[in-house]
Amino acid sequence: MTLFDHYHDLAAQLMGREDFPLPLPNWDRDYPHNIGLLSDAEESELAAIVLQLTRGMSYESWKALDMAQRVPWMQQAVTKLPPGGGPGRMSKADVLAELASRVQNGTPIITADEVARWPAGMVDEFESTGILRVTDHAKSVACDSCGQDHVEQVQYIQSPPGSELRAYIDCLEIGRVQIPLHRLRQWVIDPARLPAGSKDAMSVSEDVQESATNGQLQFDRDTFTVRFDGRSCELRNTKEYHLLVRLSRRPGIFVSNSVLASDVWDDEHTEKSTIQKTVSNLRRSLKDAGIKNLVLDGTTNKDHYALKLP
Ligand SMILES: [Zn+2]
Repeated sequence: MTLFDHYHDLAAQLMGREDFPLPLPNWDRDYPHNIGLLSDAEESELAAIVLQLTRGMSYESWKALDMAQRVPWMQQAVTKLPPGGGPGRMSKADVLAELASRVQNGTPIITADEVARWPAGMVDEFESTGILRVTDHAKSVACDSCGQDHVEQVQYIQSPPGSELRAYIDCLEIGRVQIPLHRLRQWVIDPARLPAGSKDAMSVSEDVQESATNGQLQFDRDTFTVRFDGRSCELRNTKEYHLLVRLSRRPGIFVSNSVLASDVWDDEHTEKSTIQKTVSNLRRSLKDAGIKNLVLDGTTNKDHYALKLP
């Protein structure tokens, strides 16, 4: 197998395709620096999948690699694909179920990192049918440069005026990291446009997830109640409830105080002590409700919190 074929074979596995891409005449197949026949959108999708599975590399460094340098990373990513389908292998039914569940949980915003796990062309399709509508760029994003799994507030800079918009986050280890704008794209779900069958798909998918993860965190938005391991805790419409919803979007990933201040309190000047107090209230409420396996980790990374599922 030539390097070119190997690259596309790995890309197909990672992106959940039958094969990749169209056959080309031999004369076109031997450029050492040709990153193949993927479209820009497919390149982004592939990059997001590889970075998500391998960690420890930024998008900028990935882009600078040639085909031969990328192959070892892709091989490593393939070994980390979960059995029965990797991040590139969500089916359309999975995606619709996820959208329905997000609407139900009151978190109807879809990020570019999530979309990277969808089948190719799905975003375009959902945009054209109105299920998804492009909304503002993300206010926060997970760092993909250090392997620390943390979410930081995005600083947008346009300097000098009229120049291209740039985005940065502060990384705990590396310092200032530039984030490509395509990673910050977001969409809002229009529940009225979701096909009627999505809810059925959701219950099926929940059953599957439940057996796979041995317990799933569920939010009932009508009663502001959280359910876990067969127990429920009524948090009411409080900051505690919304904090838990926010942290549950990416379990295990550390979210900075500044992101929590802006996403949960809608006020970036929220005091650190206010956040600490809300976290300790939340811990107490969960404990009182007998929910013992949800851990709110506030000590591993300074000024960051993560929700740890068992
Ligand atoms: Zn980082």
